[in-house]
Amino acid sequence: MANLVCPSCGQEMTELIADDIATDVCDACGSVFLDKTELNTLATGMAGDIEALSIDKDLHAEQLPRRACPKCPDQPMKKVNLLRVSDIVFDYCPLCGGFFLDKDKVRDMNLILKEMTPNRKAEEYRGMHGNHLVRVDQAEDIVQLEHVALLQVTHSRYIRISVFFTGNLPSGFRVFQESWPMRFIKAFGLFHTKDVKTGDERFDNLFRVRGENDEDVASHLDSDARDALVSFAGEKNSIYGRSGDLDITSSSVVYVEGPYPPTTLSNLVEDSRSLVLELVAIADKVEATS
Ligand SMILES: [Zn+2]
Ligand SMILES: [Zn+2]
Repeated sequence: MANLVCPSCGQEMTELIADDIATDVCDACGSVFLDKTELNTLATGMAGDIEALSIDKDLHAEQLPRRACPKCPDQPMKKVNLLRVSDIVFDYCPLCGGFFLDKDKVRDMNLILKEMTPNRKAEEYRGMHGNHLVRVDQAEDIVQLEHVALLQVTHSRYIRISVFFTGNLPSGFRVFQESWPMRFIKAFGLFHTKDVKTGDERFDNLFRVRGENDEDVASHLDSDARDALVSFAGEKNSIYGRSGDLDITSSSVVYVEGPYPPTTLSNLVEDSRSLVLELVAIADKVEATS
């Protein structure tokens, strides 16, 4: 088969075979094209289907230009976001399932995958609950926002439970508690969306809501979903005593608790079981539309 032509700079790409996979690399600009399944193979630090989790429905309109797939004639590629929650955006071909990454995106991707799972033990649990993929992990290297514009890297440990929605919720959708004190490195990106009030005072006092379309947002926050979230906030759930916070994006319900000293928490999966079930119930109610 003829060599691919780089969709970024127009030069011919060369096939590079390493670790049993053949990737197409552009010697001129450093871009890489990965066939379907190759991204999962390369991201050895993480278990699970990173490719499926990275195909979001957000437009990433700021990340133009659109490019055509180097494998499929005239097929435009779509911008997608690594794991949906990073701000690493690259091209995805909906026809052949391939991914195209600019040179700096390859480096950023390796960094973030390493940061999210510093070692294989960092992920404690991964499994399906009903239709939801659930991950329980211990996250380190958190950037904590001490003051505006002052980022301090700490090496504490946080417990993170992620319950992924079956599909994506509306673009820009986000529900979070006012007290949310921390940000993962690069996680959750920047949101160019407005605050939405649901009119339910109890709920609006506890949570901030963002989205691009009020009606779409409201359809996911009916009284069932709001009641579940208000009661969750009232219970002040905690696995090991420190406070935890909830952050819901268009892809998942995430609970983060900590900080704890960087020691191994040995029974985390067992100890977090009831909380996982409650988060799955919340994900069900938020994903359902009224
Ligand atoms: Zn190139
Ligand atoms: Zn393609």
